[in-house]
Amino acid sequence: MTTQSSLTDGFQLVVDALQANGVDTVYGVVGIPITDLARTAQAAGIRYIGFRHEGSAGNAAAAAGFLTQRPGVCLTTSGPGFLNGLPALANATTNCFPMIQISGSSARPLVDLQRGEYQDLDQLNAARPFAKAAYRIGRVEDIGRGIARAIRTAISGRPGGVYLDIPGEVLGQVMPATAGAASIWQVVDPAPRQLPAPEAVERALGILGRASRPLIVLGKGAAYAQADNVIREFVETTGFPFLPMSMAKGLLPDSHPQSAAAARSLAIARADAVLLVGARLNWLLGHGDSPQWSEDAEFIQIDIAASEFDSNQPIAAPLTGDIGSVMTALLEGVSAQPVSAPAAWTDEIAERKARNDAKMRERLAENPHPMRFYNALGAIRTVLQGNPDVYVVNEGANALDLARNVIEMELPRHRLDTGTWGVMGIGMGYAIAAAVETGRPVVAIEGDSAFGFSGMEIETICRYQLPVIVVVLNNGGVYRGDEAVSGTDPAPTVLNSGARHELLAEAFGGKGYHVTKPAELEAALSEALTARRPALIDCELDPAAGVESGHLASLNPARANAPA
Ligand code: ADP
Repeated sequence: MTTQSSLTDGFQLVVDALQANGVDTVYGVVGIPITDLARTAQAAGIRYIGFRHEGSAGNAAAAAGFLTQRPGVCLTTSGPGFLNGLPALANATTNCFPMIQISGSSARPLVDLQRGEYQDLDQLNAARPFAKAAYRIGRVEDIGRGIARAIRTAISGRPGGVYLDIPGEVLGQVMPATAGAASIWQVVDPAPRQLPAPEAVERALGILGRASRPLIVLGKGAAYAQADNVIREFVETTGFPFLPMSMAKGLLPDSHPQSAAAARSLAIARADAVLLVGARLNWLLGHGDSPQWSEDAEFIQIDIAASEFDSNQPIAAPLTGDIGSVMTALLEGVSAQPVSAPAAWTDEIAERKARNDAKMRERLAENPHPMRFYNALGAIRTVLQGNPDVYVVNEGANALDLARNVIEMELPRHRLDTGTWGVMGIGMGYAIAAAVETGRPVVAIEGDSAFGFSGMEIETICRYQLPVIVVVLNNGGVYRGDEAVSGTDPAPTVLNSGARHELLAEAFGGKGYHVTKPAELEAALSEALTARRPALIDCELDPAAGVESGHLASLNPARANAPA
């Protein structure tokens, strides 16, 4: 707030610096000392989206970063508010999404001597291990510099979460307005292109040229890079089969004839040359180990972070650079010296795909009562096939594993899910960001347990009248809802299969639906999409539907050795 025409203050300078760098939306939860920061931002024309919990605000900022390639900004209050936001910052860093958590903090001299200040916490050091970088602004004249540094760090190289600590007293400090304006700058070229070395490109092309069973794996880094055209051209020029990781679905349409998604296990087990495009060889890809992968597979990896190479397997051809530049270089190479996928390999994949597709169709056609996951997802799939531009958010265990396979994506960056950590609680934050950043409708496909982690944000969705439709796949439990109980309390995995989640939407002015059959679900979802208003569809499933730990049973120590 400007106190005199010739003076400015910390609140105003934070807003000016954000605006100078193109930030037009901020997510947060207000409280001491940042309430006036939100007010000042709103008065200056920045859209402020206020949440019910900082975790969701942070998740929304992270999703905004993924969708826009600009850091999403999240405002948190001191102490507990800051701590509530921290898991989202850590998750953003793990997922390589650019975001900035700006937190107000308590008076340093009191915090540092542990004098028992209001909400005192050494926030800077608490944030450090969980962020790509953590900075504190100690003087009002450093606000422009602090924001520039946070933006540069969040987006350049491997994107990630940045923590920016601003003590309340710095926000309240004043300085001459002209000097304040001069202290702010716009970051030039925040994510500079990084071209690959020509010899690295040659090395990669050599391996691809010799391959009998080449495979391209597209990860969420490839989706983030917004190099959609060159990736598509490379895939189609080579004819190589490709496998999208879950958030790369839609980068090329799932219906693309070269998609090996429906033959995933075979493609992975048999490929002899694997081009990893913005995908880490982490647990989600079985660390590249045999027998999941062929022992003689050679890995070519494109990544902006060279330290990623060799994290699990020898990388025969590392390609350091941004995905757009590297794919352009590879495309030039294969255009000059064509490569192709041997027919024996593409036929093998096509055969397996046809077999698995037929199995899937059979499962979707069943119509048991009560409904099971596949039947509900089949109904959602039918509606979304007619609305390919809808954004999909997905979390849960079975709700995630099965929806990932059943719900096809046709457009890039339209699917947001639990990501690298497989974390629960991202649902409503991601859905809100997708609606706010794109203006498009969002369907959040949620397990009933997963929904509970951020469910109160249904109020936020209703308050801002966002076109978000939440589908709760309600089998009444974590994994499933039918665990037998020995005492009087419910079993650890049991929730409430009779819960009427749709009443939550109605409590805040949204539309609620309760459905028990696929046809009802299809009708409700179609209606809600047409209305483009907040809605929640409680979808009653058989409490016996679902598998403990979903597809991760091998990671569950008690179940790992159980017979399948
Ligand atoms: P997935 O979970 O979909 O397999 P990951 O999150 O494991 O994907 O991998 C994403 C990778 O993409 C990270 O290693 C990250 O460094 C990389 N990355 C992100 N943005 C770019 C970019 N613009 N160019 C190159 N690599 C990128």
